[in-house]
Amino acid sequence: MKNGQAAREDERTCTGTEFDAVVIGAGVAGLYQLYKLRELGLRVRTFETGSAVGGTWYWNRYPGARFDSESWTYGYSFSKELLEEWTWEEHFSAQPHTERYLNYVADKFDLRRDIQFNSRVVAALWREDTRSWDIMLESGARHSTRFLVTAIGVLSASVMPTIPGIESFAGQSCHTHRWPKEGLDLAGKRVGIIGTGATAVQTIQTIADIVGHLTVFQRTPNWVFPLNNSKITKEEMQDIRSRYPDILARCRETPGCYVHGPDPRKTLEVSPEDREAFWEKLYRTPGFGQWQANFSDMLTDRTANALASDFAARKIRERVNDPILAEKLIPKNHGFGTRRIPLESGYYEVYNQQNVQLVDVNETPIERITPHGIRTSDCEREFDVIIFATGFDAITGAFDRIDIRGVNAVRLKEVWEDGPQTYLGIFVEGFPNFLMTMGPHAGLSNYTRTAEYNVEWITDVIQFATKRGLSRMEATPLAVKEWTDHVLALGQGQLMNEVGSWMTGVNRNVEGKQKPRIMRYSGGHPAYREYCNAVAAEGYPKLAY
Ligand code: NAP
Repeated sequence: MKNGQAAREDERTCTGTEFDAVVIGAGVAGLYQLYKLRELGLRVRTFETGSAVGGTWYWNRYPGARFDSESWTYGYSFSKELLEEWTWEEHFSAQPHTERYLNYVADKFDLRRDIQFNSRVVAALWREDTRSWDIMLESGARHSTRFLVTAIGVLSASVMPTIPGIESFAGQSCHTHRWPKEGLDLAGKRVGIIGTGATAVQTIQTIADIVGHLTVFQRTPNWVFPLNNSKITKEEMQDIRSRYPDILARCRETPGCYVHGPDPRKTLEVSPEDREAFWEKLYRTPGFGQWQANFSDMLTDRTANALASDFAARKIRERVNDPILAEKLIPKNHGFGTRRIPLESGYYEVYNQQNVQLVDVNETPIERITPHGIRTSDCEREFDVIIFATGFDAITGAFDRIDIRGVNAVRLKEVWEDGPQTYLGIFVEGFPNFLMTMGPHAGLSNYTRTAEYNVEWITDVIQFATKRGLSRMEATPLAVKEWTDHVLALGQGQLMNEVGSWMTGVNRNVEGKQKPRIMRYSGGHPAYREYCNAVAAEGYPKLAY
């Protein structure tokens, strides 16, 4: 006699899978993926670790969290009605408003009924006999699906530093990615923050006036540029709505899918006076203008990059009163824009405040965290609260945290040990019916713009398979080799790929992730789309069925 569970398992094997498709994650990409697959008439289930939708915008509740892409370029474009209905309040929306937006989307399209919250997927195993994936949740529950689509984000596996004594701290502490929903009362408190990336910059500039005293522990300064945010008036929003077709068309033509695209001129073709005027103008431009609309050789030519860095360094010196402190805040080990630049509103002025201190941990390394605070080589500082703005095991980290096993139980983590190998950033050889939205080696740019494209492409290929009754599809070894070689070749000569940052998969707190690797497609999103569109138009010739 078989028990109920075993009988159900048998039934699934005979009659097919429990779901046609499972989506992991209910963030920006996952919500749209669920919507699109349901449109095909498939039985879809989304598993989401959090208790609600939003992904990045659900977890990152730290003070000051907001967009660095223009809000009106970040919303979904698939529904005209949605574009008409939603009102953005600021040119760079703050986290609470963005979270509301994603909840509004979930309600409008009735997505929640197919999302299972508080459900972390811990393992996914390919079964050749049933040509399906077995999914295991943290709760122990198991499900089966024909197709498995990951929408787990590129910055979702947060990492704590490996500092001795970290568990011993008696005050309050948290990683910015796990900021409590009920908030943290920082008023008048002695606060220490570790990290000076984009997250730390937003947190620091927001809390500096609230806390009693703030100590910033900096290991690597970043080139931080003005966000130039402002509110959106009713009239402006009406104007934006009327221009959506043009805005979206503009995003389609720039490499990063922002409204900002590179200036075709080369840096040294322009006189020093005109260069200076151009950079001053970019300095006052909202958003990523400085990074994305700079001279076309800024991120490939070392001399050009050094000149852009000189300008950026002068700006820091102009804004920080203490010249010694200003020098500490100027990056020395990487050029301007070779790491994604954090955008700020009053960040540098914070260091002119009496209640803010910068500790350069290269001069005085952190030795340990104690019950009372943080001990560096010169002294111990006492804190009520320690904030870890220490970043993520980016791009592949979220995959590594799920035990994903393909044909012959081979682990994805092991396949990618020496760097990701994919076909279009979507397929992996030996992992049939496994598709990634915003995977490594895909076109990673303005998130929603690129995720929408990815999701639609994935939906089309799943439709292609289901229409033909194909129960198994996989990238051929040749497809994976050609794409991976193409991505690696494109990445050569890009200064960004030489520098350690989350974009090159470096996290000094994670074993095996110390050296920069080419993790992203760097040919620009229009070229990525052209390549993927051609593959679809030709009927996916490099997939095996
Ligand atoms: P991050 O850029 O990786 O920054 C992590 C910071 O923690 C770095 O300054 C790092 O120093 C420091 N750190 C880590 N371990 C440390 C240790 N043991 N001792 C001292 N310092 C340590 O992560 P993030 O700031 O969370 O930003 C990641 C990305 O998220 C951004 O680039 C951006 O793409 C995205 N983001 C976007 C927005 C937005 O505006 N929409 C806001 C926040 C984040 P090292 O540099 O020396 O490793």
